[in-house]
Amino acid sequence: MSRVYNFSAGPSMLPEEVLKIAAAEMLDYHGCGQSVMEMSHRSKVFDDIIKSAEASLRELMRIPDNYKVLFLQGGASTQFAAIPLNFMNGSGKADYVVTGQWAKKAAAEAKKYGEVNIVASSADKTFSYIPKLDKAAFTPDADYFYICMNNTIYGTVYHELPGTGKVPLIADISSCFLSEPLDVSKFGMLYGGAQKNVAPAGLTICIIREDLLGHARDITPTMLDYKTHADADSLYNTPPCYTIYICKLVLDWLKENGGLEAMRERNVKKAKLLYDYLDNSKLFRGTVVPEDRSLMNVPFVTDSDELNAKFVKEAAEAGLVNLKGHRTVGGMRASIYNAMPYEGVQALVDFMAKFEKENA
Ligand SMILES: *Cc1c(COP(=O)(O)O)cnc(C)c1O
Repeated sequence: MSRVYNFSAGPSMLPEEVLKIAAAEMLDYHGCGQSVMEMSHRSKVFDDIIKSAEASLRELMRIPDNYKVLFLQGGASTQFAAIPLNFMNGSGKADYVVTGQWAKKAAAEAKKYGEVNIVASSADKTFSYIPKLDKAAFTPDADYFYICMNNTIYGTVYHELPGTGKVPLIADISSCFLSEPLDVSKFGMLYGGAQKNVAPAGLTICIIREDLLGHARDITPTMLDYKTHADADSLYNTPPCYTIYICKLVLDWLKENGGLEAMRERNVKKAKLLYDYLDNSKLFRGTVVPEDRSLMNVPFVTDSDELNAKFVKEAAEAGLVNLKGHRTVGGMRASIYNAMPYEGVQALVDFMAKFEKENA
């Protein structure tokens, strides 16, 4: 068996230890004679799995007691509508910062339900930076303030959160979930699709401050009302059982490997290796301003589309796959989530150095 280093933005690599446990438990989970894929979501065995996943997530992220954790379906994209339906219920206004495609889509969806104020945008330079925020542009009576914390496509991240005072801050953390410690108490809601850094596709995790629940608009579909799922401990309908099980294993893996502080240390070391190489290369360069660089997604280019394509092809032949950048940036993107080992980034940098020498 030969496994590649997968730099995909998502779905993406999972820890090999987790895949091995899942393989060993595939036919008979803990002596119950069935696979987790087959069991009832109302069974005691599954109840233990989802409760363990929630407890581990609470422990790892130090989630305060006045927050609900929801395991949902529909992807991050479904939350783009659920968020205004649930929370745009006071002034009917919300502030959005547009730092890429995902924030832009979220803002466009919210516009269907109320008044959206675009506080700032970095569209002028292909979203290669996080815009400076002017508090004078904030809406004082906004129902919430929305950001996309880590911009998967463009490789930027907020190193400092906007100070929104009493206005609840909502953040899409799909591509930086569990990559480093985060102070949950600063947010009204955090959410993300699990397929980037937490589990396979099919699971969306929402962490919501309790006092924000229960005010959804009357027209809100039952399934999009967060209170429906909060009241039913994420078992209102059939949840993505197998994905929640893998999520539990990934959370166990994170705990065994030192939690989020240790993960940050690992991720900083990995990202530094790649950024240092890019900053010293004569062929490749990163596309993001240094102060806003993401630890998770690293877009880079050469000045030639031909060389970019050649690089992506030859890298794949060398077992470094899914390095093609998003079509709006071009070039390459290396997504180096928690499960990417240091050796994978080292292999990429070694390959880049070899490529640079051959194509100088
Ligand atoms: C991938 C991604 C999304 C879209 O997620 P889906 O689960 O496919 O809907 C939204 N936001 C961010 C930041 C992402 O990286």
